[in-house]
Parts: sequence; structure tokens; C-alpha cells
Amino acid sequence: MTTIEHWIGGGFTSGASTRRGPVYNPATGQQQHEVVLAEPGDVDAAVTAAKTAFETWRDTSLSKRAKILFNFRELVNNRTKQLAEILSDEHGKVLSDAAGEVQRGLEVIEFACGIPHLLKGEYSDQASTGVDVFSFRQPLGVCAGITPFNFPAMVPMWMHPVAIACGNTFVLKPSERDPSASNYVAELWREAGLPDGVFNVVHGDKVAVDAILDHPDIAAVSFVGSTPIARYIHQRGTAGGKRVQALGGAKNHAIILPDADLEFAANHLAAAAYGSAGERCMAISAAVAVGGAGDPLMDILTRKANEVVVGSGRDPKSEMGPVVTAAAKERIEGLIGTGEQQGAKLLVDGRGLKVPGFEEGFFVGPTLIDQVQPEMDVYTEEIFGPVLSVVRADSVDAAIELINANPYGNGTAIFTNSGEAARRFQRGVNVGMIGINVPIPVPMAYYSFGGWKDSLFGDKHIHGPEGVSFYTRAKVVTSRWPHVESAHGASMHFPTAT
Ligand code: NAD
Repeated sequence: MTTIEHWIGGGFTSGASTRRGPVYNPATGQQQHEVVLAEPGDVDAAVTAAKTAFETWRDTSLSKRAKILFNFRELVNNRTKQLAEILSDEHGKVLSDAAGEVQRGLEVIEFACGIPHLLKGEYSDQASTGVDVFSFRQPLGVCAGITPFNFPAMVPMWMHPVAIACGNTFVLKPSERDPSASNYVAELWREAGLPDGVFNVVHGDKVAVDAILDHPDIAAVSFVGSTPIARYIHQRGTAGGKRVQALGGAKNHAIILPDADLEFAANHLAAAAYGSAGERCMAISAAVAVGGAGDPLMDILTRKANEVVVGSGRDPKSEMGPVVTAAAKERIEGLIGTGEQQGAKLLVDGRGLKVPGFEEGFFVGPTLIDQVQPEMDVYTEEIFGPVLSVVRADSVDAAIELINANPYGNGTAIFTNSGEAARRFQRGVNVGMIGINVPIPVPMAYYSFGGWKDSLFGDKHIHGPEGVSFYTRAKVVTSRWPHVESAHGASMHFPTAT
């Protein structure tokens, strides 16, 4: 069994950590590694390395930074397969899905390669007679990222390429359930030419997180994870004077109108609900079938759910892998049981699934639950497993009302052939990311990613233009170079343009 260590100042170390956490292979159900769990002193060592590195990294030219980002982009692109294997072995997702995750992270790196353009300021020539005004943006200092288990490569890549391109240094605290990808990425950064200390990885649990939130030398924290922790991170981090963006959980709805192509909608719904075993923050977990769409849609969805090939993430035939831990499997299966007890109709039941050769794996099969009412636990809880709950609604307006009554507002989608209904939907829902016949509307990297309501605490969405804004602060310079012969006395009144 290998020990997964921190990456601080350009090298691996166990630091002062004596506590260890288990890292499982979810397909086999066996522990494969242990990960060191940081003490506050380890976080401090990483912050000190990052603070020292900031002194030179902040002054490194834009073209040198961009060159390192291009190198990093090439390395991640060339090592996609290796990275996908690491992701699959610790998270459980199938290899094709893991490669897709790397691809979406790569797109953020590509966005950050354009940093010389992204950091261009504004200039007003002759704002007043002989006076020019211009603005530019500077990095914040040491920034930290705290990330969830479900995208161990992509979610950290929403943060560190942009933060580093902007001239900051970075301390990443990835999920302790699948920590290896972050160390692999740290080595790629080094190979790309990033100076030691600019990117650091500290592994750990709440102890490490609290040390980050309270550290006086950390200027900003980006968090992605569940809503209760996101709320906590935002409150404690901002109380300590930090800039914080904290992305939380989700309950993403898809509305299916009777005029939609139901075969198309069901195909995409099944992929969005069961892909990555439902462990995506943009997974569709609630389908709202409007009017006559309900019964025919249930017939097709039942067939699709039964067709999904479940198996080890490493098996190329698998379309869906296990969930991340035994505890997650138990929680998801418990909620399915509660749904049945509370009166919902279980059309496809994924409990108790055994995959031949992987009997100890944490598998839950695709599950379809119809006639769900908004007060049932399967509707109110973010299940975060391969479970699609179906609610029936009479009209598109009733469906929009249902979405808006939900505390989450991450993503949502509509399946329809009506432009009028789609437009009413896109304007009416209180949700940050919207798909029109697109079930998982994750924005491209040159837009920003983020939800509304309990899906995001803080003012800025992540990556894209809002990411650049989050990781920098503006200066505005008002400048005058008077000729000696035209110099004259200053006036005491408030300065106005002349
Ligand atoms: P989580 O909230 O349990 O953990 C996220 C991070 O917080 C981890 O690094 C973990 O070590 C740390 N953490 C956990 N408990 C903590 C505590 N009590 N105090 C301080 N830190 C703590 O989330 P998870 O289970 O790893 O990931 C799944 C969740 O993340 C889901 O709710 C999902 O919707 C959400 N998510 C959201 C987005 C988004 O973009 N909004 C993206 C991915 C995942």
C-alpha cells in the first residue's frame, strides 16, 4: 500500500502529519492507498512556500507565464490516458468519462493560455487636459482551492490554471477520497517549468480546511463541494477577511414537454442521470414530465435504465461505474427505500446490484422513480447517485414554479420543440446554467460556471472572465506629466476634468 504525500515547495513530504485516511478502489471495494491528513503546521508550510514563490512569480512576465501554461496544456493533453486511469481507479468512473473530465479541465488551461489578452487593462487618453486614466489588474497573493471527490482533475483545474496565470500562487486541498490526481498534476506543472512553490498540494480533512480558512497569509479561497460545507467555508473565510467563492450542491431538473422528441429526451436524460453514477454536480436528478409526456417517457426511460452496462471503470464495455464509497452506496440505497415507503413508484430498482468479479465493489444500478412528490426525501435530498426521480406537472409554468421553489439553482434543462416555451423557461428559472435540449449545460471555459441560490455562496462564478476577476484586483491610475513651462498652482476645490 502506497502513502500519498503532500506536494510542498516542489517536492513530496509527509510533513508533520501522523494521521492517515484510506483511499479505496470503488470497483473492488478494497483499500489501495493511504493518504496523509495534514495538521495546521503542514498547511502553514505550504502557505509559506507559496508566499515565498509569490515574490518572484508575481513579477514573471506575461509571456513567460503563458509559455509555461502552453507547456502544461501539452503535458495534460499528452497524459490524458494516464490521468484518466488514476481518476477511474480512485473515483470509479469509466475511462471514457474520466478522459472527458480531463478534456473539460484542459479547456480551462487553454483559456488561461490567453492570459496576456485577458489581463489587458483600459486606457482613457486625455481624460482631462494633460491627464490620462488607466486601469490594470494585479494578483492577490496566495490563493487556496478546496475541492470535492467527484471531479478530482477538472474542478481543481477550474481554479489553479487561472489563479496561477493571473500571477498568484496556489495551495490545493483536494478531496481525501481520491487525492492521487492532484499529485500527478503537480508533477506536470513542474515539468512544464513552473517554479517550485507556485503550486502546492496539501491533503487532508476538516483540520486542513480550517487551517486554510484561518490562515492570515491566504488571500482567497475557491471551494466546490456540498451546500452545508460551502456555506460554512464562505462564512468562516469571509469572516477572516478573505475573498471567497463557494460552489455548493445541486438538484438539477429537466422539464420534458409533450412536443419534445421523447426518444431523444430519454436518451439524454438517461445519460445525464446515470453517467458517472449520478455523481456530477450537473447530473439531472429530477425530471419534470409535463402533461401527456409522462407515460410514454416512462416507458422509454425504463428501457434505457435497464440497458445501461454497469461495471468496473477500467472495463471498456462499462457505461457506468460504482459510486465512490461503501457509505455512499448505503446512503443512496437507503434513500431509494425511503422513496418507495413514502409512496413513489419504483420503476427500476438499482439496489443490491452485483457485478460478476467485483462482488465487493460499491455498485448501485440505475434507478428510476416515478410519481415523486416534492415533499418526499428522494426529491428534497441531493442523492448524488444514479437515481432519477420523476415529478409530474400540468404545464410549463407549473414546472418552472417547482424549479424556483427548490433551494438549489445550479443547472436545469428543457426538452421541447417550442421556441416560445424555451424562451419563457430561460427567462423564468432562477438557475445559473440552462440547457435547451442540452441536459448538462456546463459552460465552455471562456464563460463562467456557477449556480444561483444555495448552489453558490459569494459573488463570482468560477473560471472564465469571472475567474480572472476573482483572482485579481484592479488599480486605476490617474496620471499627469506637466511641462515645466505649463505648471501652475493647484486649486483647493475637488478635482474635476478640464
Ligand atoms: P464535500 O462537501 O463533502 O467535500 C468537499 C471538500 O470539503 C473536500 O475537500 C472535503 O475534504 C472538505 N470537507 C468535507 N467536510 C468538511 C467539513 N466538515 N469541514 C471542512 N471541510 C470539509 O463534497 P463531496 O462529497 O466531496 O462532493 C460532492 C458534493 O459536491 C455534491 O454536493 C456536489 O453537488 C458538489 N459539487 C458541486 C459542484 C458545483 O459546481 N456546484 C461541482 C462538483 C461537486
